[in-house]
Amino acid sequence: MADYRMAERLTPYLRQLIAKGNTAIEMQYRQDVPMSQEPELFPELDPLGEDSRYSKGSGIVHKFGNRVLWKATFRCAAHCQFCTRYRQIGTPKGDLSKLDIETGLAYIAANPEIDDVILSGGDPLYVPQITSQIVLGLSKIDSVRVVRIGTRLPIHSPRTFQSVPIKKLLSLFSEIAKHKAMYALIQFNHPDELTKEVDVVLRELVQAGMVLLSQTVFLKGVNDSKDILAKLFCELFYRGVVPYYIYRCDYVHGLERFVCELNVERKIMTELTKTLSGIAVPTYVIDVAGRGKIPVPLEFWKPTALVSCVDFDGKKMLV
Ligand SMILES: *Cc1c(COP(=O)(O)O)cnc(C)c1O
Ligand code: SF4
Repeated sequence: MADYRMAERLTPYLRQLIAKGNTAIEMQYRQDVPMSQEPELFPELDPLGEDSRYSKGSGIVHKFGNRVLWKATFRCAAHCQFCTRYRQIGTPKGDLSKLDIETGLAYIAANPEIDDVILSGGDPLYVPQITSQIVLGLSKIDSVRVVRIGTRLPIHSPRTFQSVPIKKLLSLFSEIAKHKAMYALIQFNHPDELTKEVDVVLRELVQAGMVLLSQTVFLKGVNDSKDILAKLFCELFYRGVVPYYIYRCDYVHGLERFVCELNVERKIMTELTKTLSGIAVPTYVIDVAGRGKIPVPLEFWKPTALVSCVDFDGKKMLV
């Protein structure tokens, strides 16, 4: 077993789904899913420079002027084997201390061009005490207008939403939602993740005043299919979740087995654009070592020989 696979971590809820034969879940979380024989193409563990180029300390990644990504923790209820940050997931070292939180809040307050804070990790809902301190602090900074919470906890452990710490956190969100926009960015990769228990959580998040968006990663063998993604995006749309982004899997060392063919992805997104309601079609983006999420041109435009594109700085990058 290559050492770049994350320690396997599953919740009882995910174990139950796998026991019932849910292979889409199994492929995302099991460590022993057979590996394709591809060479290791990608040399870097952190191709997007989160830990180096754009790190501002205390878990803050400030890459774009008006918005910051803030990692509350490196821990999650379960470990997705394709995680773009698997290099740091699972260790308690990423849990922000009180001092980290104060330092991060001071950085955000001192840079009033930051109007949008994206809590990420790890999973910020996995550490409700840390996250409540952060959002309480953010709620007092007038220049912050939007708080986004990136999470997979609804899929990993919908039952946790019945626990006291999460209930308290959601009631704090609903207070803050009276004066700032609160978005939940939930990662969904397969329609089988939308169980009845997850439906209940989605309704609770809406009741907490949050706007629900989804993010999806193209994963070979899991969702590189027009029918699977059509079902996923429609079912999200029916539940009031707006599909926001679908990402090409990042070119991280060790994740080669999950990366689909670019032209297969483009074809799928072209077909979905033709058939689904506009709200149900996410933007298909690629985030390769450049400075932003670059939308991939679909097949509506010719010629489409995709060998390179220009990133947000006008720098050419290969795909
Ligand atoms: C994705 C990302 C954001 C948010 O980008 P949006 O396109 O506004 O959703 C912000 N900061 C970093 C570092 C990111 O990777
Ligand atoms: S929940 Fe998110 S951060 Fe955690 S392992 Fe999965 S993809 Fe990575």
